[in-house]
Amino acid sequence: MGLPPLRAVVTGGAGFIGSHLCDRLVSDGHEVVALDNLVTGRAENVGHLLGPEGPAGPGRFRFVRYDVTEYLHVDGDVHAVLHLASPASPTDYLKFPIQTLKVGSLGTHKALGLAKAKGARFLLASTSEVYGDPQVHPQPEGYWGNVNPIGVRGVYDEAKRFAEAMAMAYHRSHGVRTRIARIFNTCGPRMRIEDGRALPNFLAQAIRGEPLTVYGDGSQTRSFCYVSDLVDGLVRLLLCDAPDAHEPVNLGNPEEVTILALAREVIAAAGSRSRVEHRPLPPDDPKVRRPDISRARKLLGWEPRVPRAEAIRRTLEDFRQRLAPR
Ligand code: UDP
Repeated sequence: MGLPPLRAVVTGGAGFIGSHLCDRLVSDGHEVVALDNLVTGRAENVGHLLGPEGPAGPGRFRFVRYDVTEYLHVDGDVHAVLHLASPASPTDYLKFPIQTLKVGSLGTHKALGLAKAKGARFLLASTSEVYGDPQVHPQPEGYWGNVNPIGVRGVYDEAKRFAEAMAMAYHRSHGVRTRIARIFNTCGPRMRIEDGRALPNFLAQAIRGEPLTVYGDGSQTRSFCYVSDLVDGLVRLLLCDAPDAHEPVNLGNPEEVTILALAREVIAAAGSRSRVEHRPLPPDDPKVRRPDISRARKLLGWEPRVPRAEAIRRTLEDFRQRLAPR
C-alpha cells in the first residue's frame, strides 16, 4: 500500500465483513484491535489471526470481547476506527431490535468519540438500507430514500441513517476525517449458516436437499458483491483523501438478479435436487436494489471483479466444509 503501518480499531471485527477486513488490514502490514460482543459475530472468524503463529505475528492482532455501545477506551495510538459492529441480516435485526438501534446510534457515537480523541480516520459501515424500498433505480448516493421509520426494518435503517448524520456532524463540527460506505448485499465465506439471509439460506437448503424458501414470487432483485471486492472498496475509501471523501459512497456489485433466479443459480451450482418453495414476503421488503457505483469508480478507481457465479461457488465451498459431518 506504500503507507506507514496504521493501528486500526475494527468494531464488529469478528463478524462476516469485519473479520475479512481484519485479514486484509493485517496482510497489508497494519496492526488491528478488533472489538466485538459476539451477538452476531463469531470468535472463530478471527481465531486464525490470534497467537504468535498467526499471520499477524506477535502483537499485531488483538481481539477484545466488548460491547461498543459502552464507553470505548483503547490504549496507545489509533490511526483509524472502522465501525462495522451491527446485526446486518433482517432476521438478526428483528431478533435484536434494541441492540441494533443502540449499536447504530450509541455505538457510532462512541466510535466517533474514539476517532476524535485519537485524531484517527473514521469509516462507517453504512448500508443500502438507507434507501429503504427505493423509488429510484439504480440507487445513486444523491437519493434520500424511502424508509418506513416505524416498520420492522426501521430499527436497522433508521439507526444507520442516524449513524450517517452523526458521522457528518463529527466531520463538520470536529473536523474528523469521516468516511461513509453504503454497503450493498455482500456474500462470501464466514456468512453465518443460520443468519437468515437469502444466499446463506439457499446454500444450506441446497446442500441439505431441502426446498429453497423464496419469499413472495421471487421477482424482487438484489445485487451481490463478493466480500474481497467489498473489503478492497472499504480500504480504498478509508485511505482516500479527496476533498469530497467524507460524502457517502456506494459499494456493491451493480449486477442485479431476481431472488428466484438466484435460487436457481444456487441449485445448479450445488448440483442439488432441491426445488423452490414460495413463502410469504416479509413486511417492507425492498422490491429492487442495485447500486449506482459511478462515484466509487471515479473517487476510488474501484469496481468489483468477482462475478456472481464465482462468488456463489466460493461461498458454497465454505458452506460445504462447515456443514460436512465431522
Ligand atoms: N429471501 C428469500 N428467501 C430467504 C431469505 C430471503 O426469498 O430464505 C428474500 C428476501 O425476502 C429479500 C431477498 O431475499 O427479498 C434478500 O433478503 P436478505 O434477507 O438476504 O437481505 P436484504 O437484502 O433484504 O437485506
